[in-house]
Amino acid sequence: MGPSPSPFSSLGLSEALLKTLADRGYTAPTPIQEQAIPAVLFGKDVLGIAKTGSGKTASYVLPILAHLEQERWTMSNRHVPVLVLVPTRELALQVEAVFNELSAGQPERVRTVAVFGGVSINPQMIGLQGVQVLIATPGRLLDLIEHKAVHLAEVKVLVLDEADRMLDLGFQDEVDRLLALMPRKRQNLLFSATLSSAIHEITRLVLHKPEVIQVVEEPQEVTLIRQRAFRVAPERKGPFLRYLIRSGDMQQVLVFTATTHSADHVADKLRKHGIDARATHGGKSHHARTQALADLKAGRLRVLVTTDLLARGIDIAFLPYVINYELPRSPKDHVHRIGRTGRAQNPGEAITLVTPADQPHFKVIQKKMGQWVMLESTDEVDLQGY
Ligand code: ADP
Ligand code: MG
Repeated sequence: MGPSPSPFSSLGLSEALLKTLADRGYTAPTPIQEQAIPAVLFGKDVLGIAKTGSGKTASYVLPILAHLEQERWTMSNRHVPVLVLVPTRELALQVEAVFNELSAGQPERVRTVAVFGGVSINPQMIGLQGVQVLIATPGRLLDLIEHKAVHLAEVKVLVLDEADRMLDLGFQDEVDRLLALMPRKRQNLLFSATLSSAIHEITRLVLHKPEVIQVVEEPQEVTLIRQRAFRVAPERKGPFLRYLIRSGDMQQVLVFTATTHSADHVADKLRKHGIDARATHGGKSHHARTQALADLKAGRLRVLVTTDLLARGIDIAFLPYVINYELPRSPKDHVHRIGRTGRAQNPGEAITLVTPADQPHFKVIQKKMGQWVMLESTDEVDLQGY
């Protein structure tokens, strides 16, 4: 993130917000915050692109809270003024936490609610009365609208966090249906670390003269993520993973696998060898998912094994290690995976295991990222006893 020439106080935020930021120990805005906050305050549509861990959440949360403090929108029953769409429930809860944290010192309480699938819909329906900030995954939001628990016809500000994911094929139908329910005149804020077709989708969203803010990484910038890659024979991967964790004395590790089945299998194997590990993925209950992530964050769980589900947006302060046990299919997912470490100026290490059969695909990933990692041999590593 680096030092920033201007303090938060020059960005046009309210006294209450500046005090909250000072209390939280946020001394200076990150580059994306420095550029996006004034544009959002000005009412512009914004497309903000900046790398993982660069503080994109606060770059929309802060000006939205400033809007809410000033505007005092009068809303019809069960209409929300601010809607934030996110791809996963984990991210919904995390964004909700940031809204709660940064609105703690606001003169009037800001009612923020996160809704997502996988849990009972009834409490969510009841909780939607008088909500100002609604954070939602698209599927559950459509269900709630069908139940008439919430309406989008008066949305003033729409945020798409992980915008490229929200606009890709997997969510396109749902997001289109939601957009059709919103007024044409609204402020659109799109944030992402990677861009795919999002640029073209802007027209689809009818972004109004958007301010495109892209924080370009300086080539000489020392990256906080140290990347390593090891060539490992498939049958040696399990022992090698345990060797890495044990010999490196790794205490907080996020391991990525390609499938939920494999995530379960890897976690089972680690536990059988006495390493505290759990798997989390779409097949687990909401409670188990929330608990597993909370335990890893708090340092109560040593290894969390997951699929690309968790790769998007999740912020774990001081996560020192990410291990790619299996490669992701797409290079973009690789960026999001390794971006779970090396956040907010804390260094981290991303380690990728590459089987001989993986090598061509790993080349493609590196080429797309424009980053080359030397493939280290593991033939000499004695895995006896691991
Ligand atoms: P992104 O969405 O860009 O991946 P996040 O918004 O999740 O990043 O922020 C990453 C981390 O940086 C969070 O832990 C957040 O609290 C911290 N952070 C954000 N803004 C600042 C700031 N101005 N100063 C210090 N830390 C910050
Ligand atoms: Mg984010």
